[in-house]
Amino acid sequence: MLKGIAASSGIAIAKVYKLEAPVMEITDAKVEDVEKEVSLFQSALEKTKSDIEAIKERATKAGKLSDEEIAVFDAHLMMAQDPEFTGQIVNTIQTEKVNAAYAAQTAADMMVAFFESMDNDYFRERAADIKDVTFRLKANIIGVEIPDLGAIKEDSVVVAYDLTPSDTAQLNEYAKGFATAIGGRTSHSAIMARSLEIPAVVGVSGILEEAKHGDLIVLDALKGEVILNPTDEEVAAYTKRKDEYIEYRTALKVLKDQPSITKDGHQVELVGNIGTPKDADGVLDNGGEGVGLYRTEFLYMGADALPTEEEQFVAYKAVLEKMGRRPVVVRTLDIGGDKKLPYLPIDPEMNPFLGYRAIRLCLDRKEIFRTQLRALLRASAFGTLRIMFPMIATINEFKEAKQVYEEERAKLIAEGIAVGDNVQVGMMVEIPAAAVLADQFAKVADFFSIGTNDLIQYSMAADRMSEKVSYLYQPYNPSILRLVKMTIDGAHKEGKWCGMCGEMAGEPKAVAILLGLGLDEFSMSASSILGARKVVCSMSKKEMEELANKAIACDTAEEVLELVKDIA
Ligand code: PEP
Ligand code: MG
Repeated sequence: MLKGIAASSGIAIAKVYKLEAPVMEITDAKVEDVEKEVSLFQSALEKTKSDIEAIKERATKAGKLSDEEIAVFDAHLMMAQDPEFTGQIVNTIQTEKVNAAYAAQTAADMMVAFFESMDNDYFRERAADIKDVTFRLKANIIGVEIPDLGAIKEDSVVVAYDLTPSDTAQLNEYAKGFATAIGGRTSHSAIMARSLEIPAVVGVSGILEEAKHGDLIVLDALKGEVILNPTDEEVAAYTKRKDEYIEYRTALKVLKDQPSITKDGHQVELVGNIGTPKDADGVLDNGGEGVGLYRTEFLYMGADALPTEEEQFVAYKAVLEKMGRRPVVVRTLDIGGDKKLPYLPIDPEMNPFLGYRAIRLCLDRKEIFRTQLRALLRASAFGTLRIMFPMIATINEFKEAKQVYEEERAKLIAEGIAVGDNVQVGMMVEIPAAAVLADQFAKVADFFSIGTNDLIQYSMAADRMSEKVSYLYQPYNPSILRLVKMTIDGAHKEGKWCGMCGEMAGEPKAVAILLGLGLDEFSMSASSILGARKVVCSMSKKEMEELANKAIACDTAEEVLELVKDIA
């Protein structure tokens, strides 16, 4: 058994389809006929472009990937058409009289080294694009076949070092799941697996050495485990588990259109977290009652310049229209910390998570903030929009942000542009200072959404990215529960509502305690919504209040977990 990270839930039992890259021996062998080599390169380049077009078309037709995911192929096509890249290759063939594959490799190596040296996700992705395109290009120059995942005809679990976006897009109905040697929950392949709703375990070290093409494999993407050549008993046990999981998911589907009401009639809202307009489909498919967190950073991170007001308006309007009358909470730009923009350099800091980020940056660079607020306000005419500011620490920050919002609203109205008239303006509570002063914040904010991902890291002084201190990352620590309670009570005192959009809100065990503490809205990844609804519908508010009271009186997270061990 090998261990990895469960990236997309489910269980698969099938034969291994090992995706092995063809071995291409590339040497710096010289050529005699330089012009012939240039034309060999040019025809390989044309074939590469048409291959990418074909994969893009297949992926578009399959309709499973979002526009952003499909856009990866446009990035590849752009790369293949980049005159700097192709010109460099031709130049190397002509001046050094080397073969085309070698020239392509050296041009790509230079660009990859440059992009990888820039400590930045955006450029690292560009480096991955170059590698992907160059791989195909070299294969076409040499004339070797690249394995075609789209041609799999037997139920399989794909095993690979990593899956590129073009690999993932080719997976057909016979691909029952995949396991990769590298990657984490937020790697490209993991995100794609969740969009495609197929089980995936990533970061399985040793998988390439151990798994052989055709081996039987069990992929347990609930636990993040892989079993190679299982015994008959194991196959039987996992087949049972798989059936139970399918039954569980199917049983949950009956809750899709049910209201989220406790046995004693208390109703809450179960909504989804999204990063792109396409993600809103998953929220609706899973019975989400709205969007509780639209992380707008992705709109900025997937571009090479600040998105214009119009571009943002189109994205926000698309989400609002998709969600109809359901509420949509959009968070204004939360950049900084671990999220950087290539075109917006930020001076290096000792502690970026405690530094120049989110609302701090927006209040300093108001032109960026104003553009986003105008786009949001224009979109507000098309649905039920709620806006929230991230990383609010002081009342003055909230007031200043709200003031900018009011100014933009007044300008739009003066320009005769339609804006919604019931836009709530709230804030994220993710800094302990805001939780402690929640009753005062509630006098100025229309609502709160608790960001436990950050609230926990700041309360425990434990970096959410650090493996070494991950034991301190304790959502169930009574100290965190008390901060949550203070925030909810503060909101309710002023007649405001309080939600939560950190990962904790989607954990079934936490749902019961949070509901008992009085939380009104729970925002989570789409696939967690139905499981959360099951918890809400199966208990009474009174029971949950008793549980919550016991939980906040505990000493440790372990004691709290013991209280909820039987839930889900
Ligand atoms: C949070 O901090 O809980 C949150 C939802 O925001 P993010 O994870 O984007 O920081
Ligand atoms: Mg946060």
